[in-house]
Amino acid sequence: MFDAAPLLRDVFGFDAFRPGQEEIARAVAEGENVLAIMPTGGGKSLCFQLPALMREGVTVVISPLIALMRDQVRGLQEAGVEAGALTSGNTSEETEAVWQALEAGRLKLLYMAPERLASGAAMGMLRRIGVSLIAVDEAHCVSQWGHDFRPDYLRIGELRRALGVPLAAFTATADAETQAEIIAKLFDGEEPRSFLRGFDRPNIHLAFAAKDSPRRQILEFAGARRGQSGIVYCGTRAKTETLAQALREDGHSACHYHGGMEAEDRRIVETCFAREDGLIVVATVAFGMGIDKPDIRWVAHADLPKSIEAYYQEIGRAGRDGGPAETLTLYGPDDIRLRRSQIDEGLAPPERRAADHARLNALLGLAEALTCRRQTLLGYFGETEVSCGKCDLCDSPAERFDGTTAVRMALSAMLRTEEWFGATHLIDILLGNQTDKIRERRHDQLPTYGVGTEWNRAQWQAIFRQMMGRDLVRPDPERHGALRMTEAALPILRGEAEIELRKDTVRKAARRPAVKA
Ligand code: ADP
Repeated sequence: MFDAAPLLRDVFGFDAFRPGQEEIARAVAEGENVLAIMPTGGGKSLCFQLPALMREGVTVVISPLIALMRDQVRGLQEAGVEAGALTSGNTSEETEAVWQALEAGRLKLLYMAPERLASGAAMGMLRRIGVSLIAVDEAHCVSQWGHDFRPDYLRIGELRRALGVPLAAFTATADAETQAEIIAKLFDGEEPRSFLRGFDRPNIHLAFAAKDSPRRQILEFAGARRGQSGIVYCGTRAKTETLAQALREDGHSACHYHGGMEAEDRRIVETCFAREDGLIVVATVAFGMGIDKPDIRWVAHADLPKSIEAYYQEIGRAGRDGGPAETLTLYGPDDIRLRRSQIDEGLAPPERRAADHARLNALLGLAEALTCRRQTLLGYFGETEVSCGKCDLCDSPAERFDGTTAVRMALSAMLRTEEWFGATHLIDILLGNQTDKIRERRHDQLPTYGVGTEWNRAQWQAIFRQMMGRDLVRPDPERHGALRMTEAALPILRGEAEIELRKDTVRKAARRPAVKA
């Protein structure tokens, strides 16, 4: 029977489990192989510490973060649990004490840095001492594509085979590719019981808006939240400086922050942000790691983030105290082009690039979502059955219209020009405009010339953006960003499928023609 309530209260001092903790801890305690994905701060450590106390023998915890291990060991010891760590940070006395506790069979939790697994002596010791469970923290470190790859993590699979005990892997990285790699490398491809919990941050309001005049849109958003601490994320370093300036001119207290600044200057911004109320930091993604301010009331993206994971992480910095927090993400066709070309021009191998495109597509799908954003976002992370009421689309559902004719016209214009042009020229064709490019290429002779005058340029831009968001068309870097169709567009083009588009962005576009900031 799994009755963890007394331990939870008496040892850890908690009244209740957080979302997901109980079912994960139960599966681990019952000896199942487990892969648990929870966001940072979700309370992963309890999910292996508690079972460690319920099981016979020693639980080995592998973690790459020495400071964190020492912290956890100290916490457990203070709670009266026999725990120890073997890391390069130890004094020889500490190591000796751990060995003695192990030999005496007293230790319940043994924390180890992955490097230790390289030594035959450590492996031999682990075989002798009666390990009953292996817990792996930061399990994504086994992923060779990730930023945190630790070659020694690859030895963990070997350890599991050698000891023949259950393994519980924990990470905050939720993408499918990383999960597959963890399963392959740590569990030899044998499916563990997987849990994905706690990704919902119900106090954060989600909103997206088509970018028409980003400076004005950000000033409006910040202006409605005067005196509250917030972060504005920008795609370029230069923009952080100009936007911070614009916010100051508008009476806000605002600083910029990016990776090109002196370390000293960056530290000053970090400290001011932590201490002061109501400071706005306009930053690149360099600002984030290690910001531990609980009362950030809003996060705005002046440019589209690079993936759905990055979006989730960046907005997740708001409202850590559980109080209401608001977010706004602006996006436009230029963002989509920029993000695509960053992926294509990067040095990553082709399969990695395909995965990056998919992560970007997921974000674009979220931007152009027709129904609840929270459900769309969490659905991507595998969490279903989420209730919301806290996003712009729940506030006012998107009106839709049958966009089949418009999309078909656009696709047909692409087809007639052999997919060699970008949206601007395609829109000129659809609108029947006379430009030099149209005349030179004799595109005024095409059957699609001038067929789209039911919509104006701004509306067509919104239609093309939605087509990109739904991944019907993609810019081709080998054709200077000319739009090309994806497989998904073919049924619509052939007349076999219809498509609904969001009316609001198309209608809004009509009221306010696109202006560059
Ligand atoms: P993670 O490893 O997932 O980032 P931690 O395990 O460090 O998160 O937990 C984050 C914080 O939440 C810690 O301060 C921990 O004490 C606290 N915590 C964990 N579980 C609970 C709970 N059931 N009730 C209250 N606080 C909890």
